[in-house]
Amino acid sequence: MKKIYKRKFERNDKRHLLLFGYEEHKEIASKELEITPLPSPHMRWNPARQEWVTYSETRKVRTSFPPEEYCPLCPGAELNFATEIPFKNFEVAIFPNRWASFNTNDDKTSIDGLSTKPSNGECEVVVYSSKHLDTIAQMPISRIELLFNAWSDRYIKLLERDDIQYVMPFENRGVECGVTLHHPHGQIYAYPFIPPVIKKEIEAFNKENFIKKLMKDLEKNYFVYQDDNVIAAVPPFSRYAYEIWIIPKRQIAGPWQFTDQEYNSFAVALQKVVKGYDSFLGRRCPYIMGLHAAPNLEDDNFHFHMEFYPPLRHGDKPKVLAGSESMAGVFIMDVFPEETAIELRKFMS
Ligand SMILES: [Zn+2]
Repeated sequence: MKKIYKRKFERNDKRHLLLFGYEEHKEIASKELEITPLPSPHMRWNPARQEWVTYSETRKVRTSFPPEEYCPLCPGAELNFATEIPFKNFEVAIFPNRWASFNTNDDKTSIDGLSTKPSNGECEVVVYSSKHLDTIAQMPISRIELLFNAWSDRYIKLLERDDIQYVMPFENRGVECGVTLHHPHGQIYAYPFIPPVIKKEIEAFNKENFIKKLMKDLEKNYFVYQDDNVIAAVPPFSRYAYEIWIIPKRQIAGPWQFTDQEYNSFAVALQKVVKGYDSFLGRRCPYIMGLHAAPNLEDDNFHFHMEFYPPLRHGDKPKVLAGSESMAGVFIMDVFPEETAIELRKFMS
């Protein structure tokens, strides 16, 4: 693998913008964004669901109003307005989210009869490319490998912190998933507790490695793409018509344990899936994508995987989490995963 450089640029607010690249980044910064006050989000315990809900103040109104087409993730050095990245060029950039839902703070919110605490942790924005119109479907594979390496770096650094219990990179894509900013990017949430969905997965993996048990069937019936190291498949228990998981064939805790070969295989598989979704739909496919890794770097029960949930029913009809899904947590499906796997495979292999 090519050498990867990481530049830690100290911003005007003393927080860090990280620049990952195959080229050493030495550019001198142009005008930076104005300093914004740090958010102080807090959490309230929902006793009915036995889970935390986090509350973050709404965005403060900005002092200057940029034009409508303004993109805060484009390289700022050649624009009339400062952006998050005050340079001409970059490969992959990661910086703290100014509107973080998790940010270690000393909020004192208290409500009688309710358990509350500060929403400690970290929220970061991950910018995949300096080009506004780029997409994972078209990027060079080396760029996607770089992205996985940047994710690994964040897992390692964030999990070192005592105020962080779980790290999850994710991406919301498309207006259907609430995205208004089309510059290719994702986010990383570093939580002060293990989130409920992950807690269940950890318990499941402690009990049985269901992925390992299913692997032969995934390889034979449910795959949409595979090579020697990774498989992309519609899980036989999927809850969305076009749900796909990308799974390493070897049981590993997270991308920080990837070999060079696995970095490459994952980059290729990720591109196949995104490109395949897009050509299947004939437009940019909306999805929610997340990385599910172990809660600690040395874990040997968890089996890392990425999950994709396109919010669609069969075809291009939108899937709404309605009565049964929202109120009871029971998903109702009208297509079989073994059928959608065959349908999607044509676009991904
Ligand atoms: Zn942009």
